Amino acid sequence: MSNDTSLKTAIDELKHSLSENAWTESLAEIEPHLKEWRDRWQGHTPLLLTPRTTEQVSQALQICTKHQIPVTLQGGNTGLVGGQIPLGEILVSTKYLKSVREQTDYSITVEAGCILQKIHELADKEHKHFPLSLASQGSANIGGLCSTNAGGVNVVRYGSMRDLVIGLEVVLADGRVFDSLNLPKKDNTGYNITPLFLGAEGTLGIITAVKLKLFNKPKQQETLFLALDNVENSLNILNICKNQLDDDLSLIELIPSQALDFVTSNIPNCSSPFTQKHAWYVLLQFESVLNSSLLKQVEALVETLLNKNIIQDAVIAQSLQQSKALIKLRESISEAQKPEGGSIKHDISVPIKTIPEFLDKATFAVRALVPNCRPIPFGHLGDGNIHFNISQPVNMDKEEYLAHWEAMNHIVHDIVVQLGGSISAEHGIGILKKKELAQRCDPVKLAAMKSIKKALDPKNIMNPRVLL
Ligand SMILES: Cc1cc2nc3c(=O)[nH]c(=O)nc-3n(C[C@H](O)[C@H](O)[C@H](O)COP(=O)(O)OP(=O)(O)OC[C@H]3O[C@@H](n4cnc5c(N)ncnc54)[C@H](O)[C@@H]3O)c2cc1C
Repeated sequence: MSNDTSLKTAIDELKHSLSENAWTESLAEIEPHLKEWRDRWQGHTPLLLTPRTTEQVSQALQICTKHQIPVTLQGGNTGLVGGQIPLGEILVSTKYLKSVREQTDYSITVEAGCILQKIHELADKEHKHFPLSLASQGSANIGGLCSTNAGGVNVVRYGSMRDLVIGLEVVLADGRVFDSLNLPKKDNTGYNITPLFLGAEGTLGIITAVKLKLFNKPKQQETLFLALDNVENSLNILNICKNQLDDDLSLIELIPSQALDFVTSNIPNCSSPFTQKHAWYVLLQFESVLNSSLLKQVEALVETLLNKNIIQDAVIAQSLQQSKALIKLRESISEAQKPEGGSIKHDISVPIKTIPEFLDKATFAVRALVPNCRPIPFGHLGDGNIHFNISQPVNMDKEEYLAHWEAMNHIVHDIVVQLGGSISAEHGIGILKKKELAQRCDPVKLAAMKSIKKALDPKNIMNPRVLL
């Protein structure tokens, strides 16, 4: 770690070497970078670097490595595990690295600061499709999405970032540039280094550019909202969808009754598509690149589910506007929890068939710890990825409730591990789950990760408080 003199020397050298628009000490400019969406972390930094080119990133890291000065990296600042908030380190933001370098029929190469929504728009213009979709897509940057191996609602069909990246440009801690943007598709020349940076949470280097896969744009899309009276039937829905429409299933999300209540009460212009309340809901989307009638197949699916008494009711969106309204019900769940007071979060995955068992055991366990707490388990059914969020009991003091965060995490994660699941399905480890990772990670994997970190960042300057 740095002492005050080497920090001051490094800052002077950075200011002297980089052009004036590539750094700032202005508190007004720095301030928005110091807090995050959940209001859990409040940071501070002596200097914000805002490089405009890969060369400037390289220059900055050479100086930081020379003086052994740690840096924290930030993209769109939508991360949910605290890794992007500096605690005294120099903060490097990729927000001005946002050129589009190349777009071809089935790929697009963009710089790290490009916002996900912009990539959707660029693909759309050429009648193509970039499938990664999440509620933070208006702010999340492609560099941050790569670094967290982000998932979202379309993983069931297209996979997470690890499946969508073709190549990367990464500036390593010592300033050297690793470049796999233009490797041939077939390249068996030893270790595949590229995937190491996907999910590394900024601990191995700064991603400066990314080549992404593009897909043909679906010609048809159907959105459905189903009502069911027990969670076991959500698995039956998944199985029947896979049998009848597997290739076309692009989204399958589980929503509990309480979540829909929060959304319809707390988010403007949201209403339930059903007149009656049901215990659980499943939101589905199907896409097809062919012209054959997807709607007919979806109607047949609904008929099967009703005949088998797996669902109690169903709505098929009749327009793009209706489809967006149904999707909004799912996307608004986290936001709708905020007026309900404190929420203790878990981003876990379990084998799909154990979801009902997980929900039973975890609900029982958290209610034993905090009676009357309100579990809101929602999320990506097709990946076994449940966001097991628990809202505080009505009338309990928020801080008193949030003091149970660690204990509740521990109880829930014990159940996840017993079922053979993962304590971080898509948000990463960051600062939030670092202690749990150290306790629960396979020791062989942990040792390998530490060796890789040491090889690529021997002075431990890249996001040193994150992950390991
Ligand atoms: C409302 C909401 C919904 C969300 N839904 C989902 C979801 O469905 N699925 C999901 O996976 N996530 C979800 N997230 C989490 C978040 O959007 C993702 O983790 C996203 O990938 C973070 O991208 P970012 O650009 O904001 O990164 P940041 O928050 O800025 O950073 C995240 C991490 O990546 C590192 N980093 C950032 N840029 C770089 C870079 N260029 N090179 C190296 N390291 C870098 C940071 O240091 C930090 O450790 C959601 C967040 C919100 C607020």
